[in-house]
Amino acid sequence: MNPARQLYRYLVTNNRQDYHPQNFRKSAIIFSPHQDDETLGCGGTIIRKKQAGADIKIVFMTDGSGSHAHLMNPQKLKTLRRNEALEAAEVLGLDRSDIFFLDFQDGTLKFNQQKALPKVLEILTNFDPEEVFIPYSKEEPSDHWATYKIVQSALQQSTFNLTVYEYPIWFWRQWPWTSLVGRPREILSCLKNTWSSGFGYKFLTDLNCSVYVADVLEQKKMALEEHRSQIQRLVDDSSWMTLGDLSKGEFLDCFFQDYEFFYPSKIISQKLN
Ligand SMILES: [Zn+2]
Repeated sequence: MNPARQLYRYLVTNNRQDYHPQNFRKSAIIFSPHQDDETLGCGGTIIRKKQAGADIKIVFMTDGSGSHAHLMNPQKLKTLRRNEALEAAEVLGLDRSDIFFLDFQDGTLKFNQQKALPKVLEILTNFDPEEVFIPYSKEEPSDHWATYKIVQSALQQSTFNLTVYEYPIWFWRQWPWTSLVGRPREILSCLKNTWSSGFGYKFLTDLNCSVYVADVLEQKKMALEEHRSQIQRLVDDSSWMTLGDLSKGEFLDCFFQDYEFFYPSKIISQKLN
């Protein structure tokens, strides 16, 4: 591991505050833009909360049909990812009845915010969770920040007594957590994240709530392996990118550290547009 990453890892690990042990039993809804974000960002936490007896639901906002649409029929990919998500959730300890699919077309959530809002509000109202997990506000992909925005807006519509935890996915893709390698677009995105995090400063100021997951990493890995379309090349074509291809595997390594990191955020009033 390069020295800069080692230093960052040391700083982040020593700056963190433990998620309170009493919280493991609290009910939660995980809002996941795509089928795999829930496992990558919160998989270990979900496993530990289920072990403690918590009631957990996962809401998938989009249908995931766009990840490899240039090589597989989107309808086929949608069905595949739906089944993968159900299998992964089972490994995490959930029942099929705990999973909701809102099925907005992959990549279009920002255009469907008004349609998604009542659906999210209905789930929040019916379940009334003690915690909600949403993507980190500085996530770059549009489905990720749209998920953040829709859930925050839904939380404004009623009085909920809950804590919001934001989880990073693509935000990890920044130097020195990942090296500056790949296509120009990927390097640019890595530099952008590095800049917007203040060269890692945000990891210390925001993402300082952590859950120890080292003892459940094997189970988390097994859950991620159920997302076969994202970790295996299902078509013999090098343009079928897998999570392991990104930044030579360094991106995936970020999700298999001893801790999962969260930002326990406040509810922010945001109008949809
Ligand atoms: Zn995603």
